[in-house]
Amino acid sequence: MMLVCILFWIFVPSCCLSASNFTGNSSDAGNHFITPLLLVSFDGFRADYLKQYKFPNLQKFFSDGVLVEQIKNVFITKTFPNHYSIVTGLYAESHGILANSMYDPTVNKTFSLQSSFDPFWWNDATPIWVSLQQKGFKTAAAMWPGTDVKIHNMTSTYHMHYNKLMTFQQRVDNVTKLLSDGTVKFAALYYEEPDHFGHIYGPDNTTEMTKVLKQVDDNIGYLIEKLNETNLWNTINTIITSDHGMTQCSQQRIIQLDKCINNSSYTLVDSGPVAAILPLNISLVYSKLKNCHPNMKAYLKNDLPDRLHYKASPRVQPIILIADEGWLIVQSGGIDHLGDHGYDNDLPSMHPFLAAHGPAFRKGYKHSTMNIVDIYPLMCHLLEMQEMPNNGSFSHAKCLLSSQWCVSLPEVLGIVIGVLMLLTALTCLIILTKKRAAPSQRPFARLELQEDDDDDPLLD
Ligand SMILES: [Zn+2]
Repeated sequence: MMLVCILFWIFVPSCCLSASNFTGNSSDAGNHFITPLLLVSFDGFRADYLKQYKFPNLQKFFSDGVLVEQIKNVFITKTFPNHYSIVTGLYAESHGILANSMYDPTVNKTFSLQSSFDPFWWNDATPIWVSLQQKGFKTAAAMWPGTDVKIHNMTSTYHMHYNKLMTFQQRVDNVTKLLSDGTVKFAALYYEEPDHFGHIYGPDNTTEMTKVLKQVDDNIGYLIEKLNETNLWNTINTIITSDHGMTQCSQQRIIQLDKCINNSSYTLVDSGPVAAILPLNISLVYSKLKNCHPNMKAYLKNDLPDRLHYKASPRVQPIILIADEGWLIVQSGGIDHLGDHGYDNDLPSMHPFLAAHGPAFRKGYKHSTMNIVDIYPLMCHLLEMQEMPNNGSFSHAKCLLSSQWCVSLPEVLGIVIGVLMLLTALTCLIILTKKRAAPSQRPFARLELQEDDDDDPLLD
């Protein structure tokens, strides 16, 4: 299998180069050097794992770089929507990858993780690797969602189809080789842990999750080792992040739609924490689902809250069901896993983190939060490229960079309070000085008055 993977890796670039009309210009646009960027995602790395478990290697990574403790991701908090938001800066309703399972009524097509290669689903947005290649750069990807799809007629220059048998080490070896020999300016690497075991055990199983997260941290240790070995550790910028968190589920927290409605009256397009319902009769099905279960909210598409940035797409089904945290929506029966994600993106348990290291980043700096859509403008800044229209903001991320002047709100408040205290102290000092000086003048004044008083009778 390893041999198959290696052969695949070797052969894919040549086929892509011709298929994507790649210009073959690997030199920098203009003559100045642009620092390469490596983007790494560990699927399902919940932000507060960092507080609960030990990560000596990740700690080493961000101690010499930056850490953003929580990333507010996009709804729904699933793998494909959020990985596409990272590389486009768009909410799901704008980039079109709304879930891991979708149906588009306008063309009668279905999307699933197994059949995701049709560019139709991805072409509403332009991911960063496509923009870079359009400028003449080459890019590499190790299984990052979408990189093996011909988006705007172009896959990532070097890419590989998803293959869970390929180890993290092999993925790292491949991308670091292309970065270190100067072939590519940007590489994106995807790894499926701790999501896979997080689903099986649930995040509350600390015994098993300790082992899983130790393995993830060992992989980060390997990444650091490899970056050092290839002289990339201090010469490229590296971002480690994730798509979403994970929460504990239970056989006792299942919502069975069959208990509320006949399953012949609708098609279940997606299920889990969020269910997408394509009904035969919208009002009839909605009336049966809206009071189906106290831990599930039913929304008509247009009534979905604006803050979710989800409803403005034809791929959103007429009825969307959202379960409370830890509950799962199924048609019938039980569940085969104890952890899940996809819930409301306001929930902290759904949030991942971000760490970054390299010449552009500050050292030993911690930041409390930013949005997942802010990663894209940050990456565009690092790669000195024009942003495509997006929902993120570079201003949210600029504090991470050593070149940017940055004062946070608490620092501004601190400075204002400090200046006010200084002014108050100075005012008090001036008043006290005046009061102390005053008594030495009074006797003299009185003496003058007394002299005047004495003189008056003589004049009379
Ligand atoms: Zn998952």
